[in-house]
Amino acid sequence: MGKNMKEQSADLLIEEVAVVTMNESQDYFSDGYLAIRDGMILKAGPMHEASAWRAREKLSMKGCVAIPGFINAHSHIGMSFLRGQADDIRLYDFLDRTFPVLFQSDHEVVYLFALLACAEMLKSGYTTTVDIMEQLPATAAAVSKSGMRGKLSPNIVNFLDDTKTDRLLEENIGYYEKYQNSASGRIQIDFNIHAPYSCSKQLMTKIKQAAQLRKADIHLHLSENLEEVSAIREKYSMTPTEYLDSLGILGPDVLAAHFVQVTDHDIDLARIRGIRVAHNPASNMKLASGFAPVAKLLKAGILVGLGTDSCVTNNRLDAFDTMKWTALIHKGNTQDATVLKASEVLNMAGAKGARSIGLDTIIGTLEAGKRADITFVRMDGKPHCTPWIKERAENTISHLVYSMSPADVDMVMVDGNILVKHGKVIAFDEKLILKDAQKAGEKLLNKTLYAN
Ligand SMILES: [Zn+2]
Repeated sequence: MGKNMKEQSADLLIEEVAVVTMNESQDYFSDGYLAIRDGMILKAGPMHEASAWRAREKLSMKGCVAIPGFINAHSHIGMSFLRGQADDIRLYDFLDRTFPVLFQSDHEVVYLFALLACAEMLKSGYTTTVDIMEQLPATAAAVSKSGMRGKLSPNIVNFLDDTKTDRLLEENIGYYEKYQNSASGRIQIDFNIHAPYSCSKQLMTKIKQAAQLRKADIHLHLSENLEEVSAIREKYSMTPTEYLDSLGILGPDVLAAHFVQVTDHDIDLARIRGIRVAHNPASNMKLASGFAPVAKLLKAGILVGLGTDSCVTNNRLDAFDTMKWTALIHKGNTQDATVLKASEVLNMAGAKGARSIGLDTIIGTLEAGKRADITFVRMDGKPHCTPWIKERAENTISHLVYSMSPADVDMVMVDGNILVKHGKVIAFDEKLILKDAQKAGEKLLNKTLYAN
């Protein structure tokens, strides 16, 4: 067998599928194929070239579109036992209501609900989540079990009490040392700062130094609402963004969730320092935080990914919802129907999303050398996307952003492993987890929120 022949062999050949590559030249194959070996994409191309490949297994996905697995740039998956328990209240009342329950939740309950959140996300086409959660060992176990990819950090918050600072710093470093590159490399560990109003200067600078030393990223909440801005202004005569910058926190290693109530100077700072933003449209609307200036951020060249935030402020972990919210909110708010086009929004959930979380060297596009994290959305036989002019990339993308829902997700793979098939989770026993979670969730809420 010649060298050339060897290069043309794959483990799996997925055939007769429309492929949205999201690569630099935005290649689209209306009738395409994907060759996968050892969990990596070897080639995405037009179907008439597929005959050059030999494969151990072939799978036709006729009637489906293959897209890079969605990226959830901001989540709190272990909090989903609080879904529907803190609606219609202000952010600070929300934190007052949920923090005591979170601090009383144990490993088991966080694990069960994080795993359920993974099931919900996978069935919506998410393959990666960037998560903040107190009990990181529990979320890491859930992400590992689910087969998903995760970039995880603990919730680092000292409520400005520096007696806790060193312990919290050690906790984040300990998690980094234990879990970085675990789950066959699917888990990465970030450093965390809950928010500039809930962490002391000392804690934030120490976290920054620890992250820099390890070339790790920092995930934080920033400028979520006007109350935060007023509180920081009153104390330091600066905006939250200016305040973090004065402490040397801001840089390309920072992923800032929200970035809603910001000034033009904040946007300038974000651009100059190269911070990235996780936009959470549903959460911003539900907590009445305001409209993040997403169109402006994109124009300034700031990397913006899309997040769900926790399902307590959403209340769904739904990639399609999140895309549609993003497009519609900003069109309405700017009164300009041309902003946040479907192709831009899909990109924010895919290739740009991967750049926003710093994983674009391994995921985010369907092209040679990337991990096989792929979502397949079924387009045929669906009233809500008929007709589908398959040959037109723009029509395919329009349907994906504006018309489709998690119910249309047919298959999801991470690292070439099939985790969802025919819309059902096959990576673990979802029914069993549901039963245990119902029991554990009820017990926790009855002894906390509903105890009197
Ligand atoms: Zn959050």
